[in-house]
Amino acid sequence: MVLAGNNPASEIYVRSKIKACHDLGIYSESITPGESVTTDDLLGIVDSLNAREDIHGILVQLPLPKQADEKRILMAIAPEKDVDGFHPCNAGKLMTGLPAPRACTPAGIIEILKRCGIAIAGKRAVVLGRSDIVGKPVALLLLHENATVTICHSKTPDLPAVCREADILVAAVGRPAMVTAEYLKPGAVVVDVGINRLNIREDVERIFRGSVETLAAFEKRGSVIVGDVDPIAMAEVSSAYTPVPGGVGPLTIAMLMANTVAAARQAMK
Ligand code: NAP
Repeated sequence: MVLAGNNPASEIYVRSKIKACHDLGIYSESITPGESVTTDDLLGIVDSLNAREDIHGILVQLPLPKQADEKRILMAIAPEKDVDGFHPCNAGKLMTGLPAPRACTPAGIIEILKRCGIAIAGKRAVVLGRSDIVGKPVALLLLHENATVTICHSKTPDLPAVCREADILVAAVGRPAMVTAEYLKPGAVVVDVGINRLNIREDVERIFRGSVETLAAFEKRGSVIVGDVDPIAMAEVSSAYTPVPGGVGPLTIAMLMANTVAAARQAMK
């Protein structure tokens, strides 16, 4: 794991990933260059990890410090060690349905649906968000599972009406509780990918409708986490949903571990 600079959220994510490796008996190593790291420094680190036979998976935690060229660094990771599934070779293999490491959050979403016995084939799926790391790959994975898929974004007109067509709605927009009841078809399955921190008490009161428990948590920690979907509407209107936190997040780490084990097996063949 390459963790560059001092991003507190990244430090928490990397710590969870190290813990998951430790719990599973996967050897892990963290390389932590400082905030002033250059693109060349990072390319050097990636090259040396590419060359090591005892390392089967490389993860460069994003975002990188602003002077580092994120795209060049991710492209430099050997595709067979790209356990995040972001390399264009692996994105291309996803497109054509060939085996390769899949982006972890999208793969985790499919895993949740399958393990909960939620049928995907023949369903109308709407993906809200078109990022390279969540929206596009999850749309392709749903398509491979034979859903009929619509991808929405910030230029989609009448978003609530499009989302209301969804039997399965995946929200990955990064806007706290943006998806309200008017976006949801009664009985829809809702996958809430968003992780948004609320720092203002009025926002917490409004979104959690004055929930005493949530306000107490806010008073204690100074912030609370909410997804992209209104948590109360989601619980009331959907037939099944992924809570935030605790839904998609842990599966993202689980799929990273699965990708790493698969990469190791492949290398040892
Ligand atoms: P991103 O790269 O910022 O993409 C957001 C997408 O949402 C874009 O396609 C954008 O449309 C669309 N969007 C933004 N505002 C919108 C609006 N008002 N109406 C319609 N569409 C809108 O975000 P991301 O990396 O995909 O992440 C999305 C969320 O998931 C974030 O909260 C992130 O923290 C979370 N996340 C969670 C995990 C996990 O493990 N649980 C993993 C990754 C990400 P345009 O393309 O038109 O701009």
